[in-house]
Amino acid sequence: MFRERVFDAPSEVGHNTPALPNPLLISGASQLLTLRGRGPRRGAALADLGIIKDGALLVRDGRIAAVGPRAKIEALPESSAAEKLDLGGRVVLPGFVDSHTHLVHAASRAEEYELKIRGASYEEIARKGGGILNSVKKLRAATSGVLKTRALAALKKFAAYGTTTIEAKSGYGLNVPSELKILRLHQELAAAQPLGIVSTFLGAHTVPDDYRRTPAGISQYIALLTESLIPEIASAKLAEFCDVFCDRGAFTRQQSKQILAIAQQHGLAPRLHAEQLSRTGATQLAVQLGAASCDHLEQVNASDIAALSKSSTVATLLPGCDFHLGLQKYAPARKLIEAGAIVALATDYNPGTSPTLSMPMILSLACDQLRMTPAEAITAATINGAYALRRESQIGSLEVGKFADFAVFDVADYREIPYYFGINTCWLTVKRGTVVHAVDKVQI
Ligand SMILES: [Zn+2]
Repeated sequence: MFRERVFDAPSEVGHNTPALPNPLLISGASQLLTLRGRGPRRGAALADLGIIKDGALLVRDGRIAAVGPRAKIEALPESSAAEKLDLGGRVVLPGFVDSHTHLVHAASRAEEYELKIRGASYEEIARKGGGILNSVKKLRAATSGVLKTRALAALKKFAAYGTTTIEAKSGYGLNVPSELKILRLHQELAAAQPLGIVSTFLGAHTVPDDYRRTPAGISQYIALLTESLIPEIASAKLAEFCDVFCDRGAFTRQQSKQILAIAQQHGLAPRLHAEQLSRTGATQLAVQLGAASCDHLEQVNASDIAALSKSSTVATLLPGCDFHLGLQKYAPARKLIEAGAIVALATDYNPGTSPTLSMPMILSLACDQLRMTPAEAITAATINGAYALRRESQIGSLEVGKFADFAVFDVADYREIPYYFGINTCWLTVKRGTVVHAVDKVQI
């Protein structure tokens, strides 16, 4: 017989949060979205969620031991000894992989929000000392302890929306001590709580004030990145990826190439903020360099889309930015999907342009504004996000051998997840067999 046990919702996300019984048989899912099969997904394959109706999942040692129709999984010898969690007809899917966030920052920029509503552009605000440089000033003044407390609170909220892995970028330090402070925090946060954190160095987020005063300033700052920071970060293994904001007012295509080429020589894989405010050719550069992803893409043209369709560089779309900034021009998701590009979705959680950590809200925007279907959006937020972080063999789908990273939503049909926009229907989030979010007491 199955025993009954009650799990409290964890009060905070930490390594002492409750592990689920081991082994555990999870059944009673109205739909189990496996996302099985080879990743990444392109074209029509983006809509294939590998749904099992009345599906079940056997979890052992933090990994998926078996997955399939309930009758088949319950008949396994191991299942009879396992404790049981009945999902009561809810929907299970892989935990979201949020492949683009600026996790560590010191404060919101709510004061700029109203200026934007009154009509000031992102670039006008930046010229008045707002924007990224405003966040830089605050981050440099903040202690590691204060930043860590803020980031831990954010990670708890990521978990509450069904996210189990995030990428985290530096880029609000823009000098040696503050960039290293952020990247070391990524490591500390990964050790202090269960969500997966993939670290990216974004020293080339913008040119800091102190290097803007002379014409040679930009090249001096690039030298600081390439000769000092990148070698130190690579040797201390503080980041896996190096990102550059290649855009009007930030770095040119040539400068981006110079920085990313040095990063590659040191073993940091490239990714790019590309074609957000203006078309710079950053997408073509990303494809040439074999970058893991190029992100934003609001201003891409037909040749950029064609280049992405033939490449393994992921086109990561961040509709939260356009929504928050009130912009009308979203990235051409349909054209990208139809051309065969690998499309992913992410929050771009950051204090200036996308202050959200809700992947379900991003799914709603992807459906309502980018005209992606709910199935395409879920694939883009799970297995394709995992591919963008080069983690597709471990996470992003519910398949035997992968980590038991999953989210349960309190809906009967997966389409209701984006349909209820701005409403969080996430009921339970599990990371490697550990409960990181639970709305109710979970009956086991
Ligand atoms: Zn970003």
